[in-house]
Amino acid sequence: MLKSFLSLWLKFPCPLCQRIAEDTICEYCQKKLASYQFSNPQHNWIGKIPLFAWGKYDGELSRGIAKLKYDNHPEIGVLLGNWLGQSWLKNCPVNSQQKLTVLPIPLSQKKLKTRGFNQAELIAKDFCKVTKYTLVTKGLIRIKDTKAMFGLNSLQRQNNIKNAFRVSDTWQQNPPNSSVLLLDDIYTRGTTVKEAAKVLHQHNIKVIGAIAVAKTMKN
Ligand SMILES: [Zn+2]
Repeated sequence: MLKSFLSLWLKFPCPLCQRIAEDTICEYCQKKLASYQFSNPQHNWIGKIPLFAWGKYDGELSRGIAKLKYDNHPEIGVLLGNWLGQSWLKNCPVNSQQKLTVLPIPLSQKKLKTRGFNQAELIAKDFCKVTKYTLVTKGLIRIKDTKAMFGLNSLQRQNNIKNAFRVSDTWQQNPPNSSVLLLDDIYTRGTTVKEAAKVLHQHNIKVIGAIAVAKTMKN
């Protein structure tokens, strides 16, 4: 908040290249990030939990997401959420009239405290600004502080995320009145979204699919 207020007078360096920029992310870095965009983001919209991913998790895009999460640059999330929303509208894999509830994958309280924000929630906020879908941030609660998934095999990932979520009291009493679209920053094997969907299904809450900013190409 203070940063956006101050930026009316001061110009901040681009978080990715440190050049003083007109925009929060300089034009040059925006172009670089945009080069990771998939031409067919709806390509993986198949199966039980179909996926819509904006771009390839690699190079500048993976660096940008790391900056967002570990170097306190929420403005990168705003940009990526906007791009994800625009791409969804352009390549919408569902009926464009359909109402949806967007649920960002929650962080544990511990992680939220350390990071100060949930990157999925930031991305979801701007995604919903563009798509006009309903954003709900308190549908699921993360009750387990899981380890980072990087370097874990499929079974280890499943065990790591098992029983990590519960449906919030609010949703147990008042389930959403439209299907849920799960949103995460990165999609690797889908272990997290599958576990989240499983818990929601146990409460008869329908999950239509998952969306992510970046999808890894190697598993
Ligand atoms: Zn830059």
